[in-house]
Amino acid sequence: MATPFSSPSSSTPGICYLVGAGPGDLGLVTLRAKECIEMADVIAYDYLVNKEVLRWVRPDAEIIYVGKKADQHTLPQDSINQLLVDKVKSGKIVTRLKGGDPYVFGRGGEEAEELYDAGCPFEIVHGISSTIAGPGYAGIPVTHRDFCSQLTIFTGHEDPEKEESSLDFQQLASTPGTRIMLMGVGRIAILAGKLVEHGAAPDTPVALVRWASTGRQETLTGTLGTIAELVAVRGFKAPAVCVIGGVVGLRDRLNWFETRPLFGKRIVVTRTRLQAGDLSRQLKAIGADVYELPTIRIEPPENLMEFGRLVQDAHKYEWIIFTSPNGVQAFFDMFYKLYKDAREIGGARLVAIGPGTEKKLREFHLAADFVPEKAVAESLVAELIEFAGSLENQTVLWVRPDGARDVVAAGLHKHGAIVDEAIAYRTMPETDDITGGQARFREEGADVITFASSSAVESFFSLGLPLPHDLKIASIGPVTTGALRKLGRKPDIEARTHDIPGLVAAIREYFEKQPR
Ligand code: SAH
Repeated sequence: MATPFSSPSSSTPGICYLVGAGPGDLGLVTLRAKECIEMADVIAYDYLVNKEVLRWVRPDAEIIYVGKKADQHTLPQDSINQLLVDKVKSGKIVTRLKGGDPYVFGRGGEEAEELYDAGCPFEIVHGISSTIAGPGYAGIPVTHRDFCSQLTIFTGHEDPEKEESSLDFQQLASTPGTRIMLMGVGRIAILAGKLVEHGAAPDTPVALVRWASTGRQETLTGTLGTIAELVAVRGFKAPAVCVIGGVVGLRDRLNWFETRPLFGKRIVVTRTRLQAGDLSRQLKAIGADVYELPTIRIEPPENLMEFGRLVQDAHKYEWIIFTSPNGVQAFFDMFYKLYKDAREIGGARLVAIGPGTEKKLREFHLAADFVPEKAVAESLVAELIEFAGSLENQTVLWVRPDGARDVVAAGLHKHGAIVDEAIAYRTMPETDDITGGQARFREEGADVITFASSSAVESFFSLGLPLPHDLKIASIGPVTTGALRKLGRKPDIEARTHDIPGLVAAIREYFEKQPR
């Protein structure tokens, strides 16, 4: 029996998960979808799937793009079907990712039939369809008691091999309630025209929502009579959901998403994959189109044995100083490999440099005894001595990354402390571009790039990516800014409190001051 994260053996029976990945917002991916991504030996994904979901794949998984753009097929449907069947038959766990819901105009039904015919086990993992969430993110509930008691979903893109249109325009034109059309942007003039021709009122409200639920979302509103021209004038392109009906008017009041302060601002987060979450989440919460461009990867220290020995003896120290959230994480990862009981940490007093580090300690249910006011090494020693009275002959375990500045250790030594350095992790340049962040940056740039550490600055610039001239640089604080200056760059935005909320606030303030 395969367990999550196990590799298949030839005796493992394969299975195909036909998974809906939702409309684009990562938060709308279901828990089951995430599990299926984590389990997969093979991932086959579509054009409309947010590539950020690939962060959850196993490092050894095979990733296949089978996407289509409009009617330009990357891989014909027959080949996709065959691929799924072949992979399942060879014993693989295959996760087939589709935009929205797999059974709503996603050809999921056809793929399931193929799997059935080939005797392959499969499971359907439903997703949130763009038909429902797309309008919702534009402030349009697809049903509302005051407007409709019926919802019709239809496709504007038909199988071109069909001789006659199976769309009954007579009926679509006269049907009451909300009508949702997918895949129709390219043919909007013909489609809207046909509806009016068959008796729909030309002033029926219409909205098109493009790349719904993502930071690239764009909404165009008009009526059946005007929408085609508006699309032409604006150069409005697929993919978009089209909503037809009175509910469109609710957008004036319910447009919660596009009115957020950073809506539409493309912000690059350059942190480790593990750390990026917090910053991304907070920026997204105020509407930014965040994409992560991991530049550094946290790896175990070269001398893991030595680190383990120091962690094992941590309870013997009078002080333990943590210089970063990563250090805290690495320390306790090791600690709980060695011990089963939190009390083994003993009576050491804990020092956290910076509020982020303090917060990380709290995740392990430990309160820092001391957090220096300034999150910079220079003032730490002075503040610590003031707090402790004296460090003469006191034992200190300093938990730090490989190659960190030794200002702290030198300062502590000078004041008589006995310092051991526990090298907890190494930061390495991230060269893997699994979620496509580096490719996106090359292709379209961004409005802001964020740096939350000097090592992120160094590793980002060592990637040699071209910088668009209007890109704004945001720095978390003076140390990071110093690293930027060394490379001849000056930040446009610098956080006043040197932590993630401080960085988010500074970016927000910056744009609030700019004319929209
Ligand atoms: N199974 C999908 C629909 C697939 S058909 C679902 O349930 O959402 C592809 C069409 O879906 C696109 O042409 C577009 O009309 C629509 N679509 C899917 N995701 C979208 C998005 N994020 N924004 C706007 N339209 C989207």
